[in-house]
Amino acid sequence: MPLGKVTYPFPIDGKFQQIFKGPHPTHWQEAAAQKGFEFIGRAKDRLHVVLGCQSCGAPTLKRISVVLGHNPECPHCIQARRAAAARAIGAELIAADPSDRHYGLFQFGCGHTDRRQYHRVEAAAAGGHQASCSACIEDRYAEEAQCQDWKVIGPARRKGLNYRCYQHACGHCQDVAVVNMRNGDLDCAGCGETWSSKPSEIYILAFTLPTLPVIKLGYSSNSLFRMRQVQRDPDQTRGSLLRKIDVETGHRAICVEKALHSHIRRNRSDLIVPPELFRDHIRTTSEIYHRHGKPYIEALLDAVESGWDPRAQSAAA
Ligand SMILES: [Zn+2]
Ligand SMILES: [Zn+2]
Ligand SMILES: [Zn+2]
Repeated sequence: MPLGKVTYPFPIDGKFQQIFKGPHPTHWQEAAAQKGFEFIGRAKDRLHVVLGCQSCGAPTLKRISVVLGHNPECPHCIQARRAAAARAIGAELIAADPSDRHYGLFQFGCGHTDRRQYHRVEAAAAGGHQASCSACIEDRYAEEAQCQDWKVIGPARRKGLNYRCYQHACGHCQDVAVVNMRNGDLDCAGCGETWSSKPSEIYILAFTLPTLPVIKLGYSSNSLFRMRQVQRDPDQTRGSLLRKIDVETGHRAICVEKALHSHIRRNRSDLIVPPELFRDHIRTTSEIYHRHGKPYIEALLDAVESGWDPRAQSAAA
């Protein structure tokens, strides 16, 4: 009987495996070495071998056909890589999803547990993003819609994952991109209300990042709401509204705001804070300036209030 009663004295992929007595052909050992493993021995039956991973040192059980004909992977290295990706996005890998080997169960910063595809978690980590659980994401979308007088009804009927079906205060329902709802950048096909004709505000918000105080210049039909919604952890970033000016329409607000950003870029690029310093704390991709830029940016808003049009200057420059 080549299968002995004796097991290897260490667990292999979490189990004790019986030693299979038989030859250790040289070409098996060479194939293992070429693929990053040490050949330890045979186990379980005549088809399986035990390999030691040259990266992490852990033993793993493989079919000899995989070792000879394919690219065997170390499950312990894969597990470590996935756990590290989870930590990078602010979550913890708790377990594999028993229903699908491409999915794991993760616990997010909010405390909720949710399933995610491993490769999406690794892509988010590589992109330097933080992640939230699905329930908290939907809560945030609902809040963002509420601020614009819309309600989330459910998934979009005709469009993709980044859309939802929303109902306007007038009762009309339509599919809208989540990002457009966040910015109030949409028109109701039911009652004809357009974002561009609604009154708006240009604001200066202040936030405390772990390493530096910053301000955000932007526009919104509801600056206080925008201040709350843009923070990942309000207890840490402690947002406040420093200043806002009223603008007659959303259309004018977005034009003036864009022109102000390019004015600052041209004249005071030293005030721009690089995204890697704020993107883990504030949900925005740009528009963040150093706190000491406040007097300069306030002077620009004063000028806008007394009739200066930054667009005229952009066109001339
Ligand atoms: Zn390994
Ligand atoms: Zn959550
Ligand atoms: Zn409507």
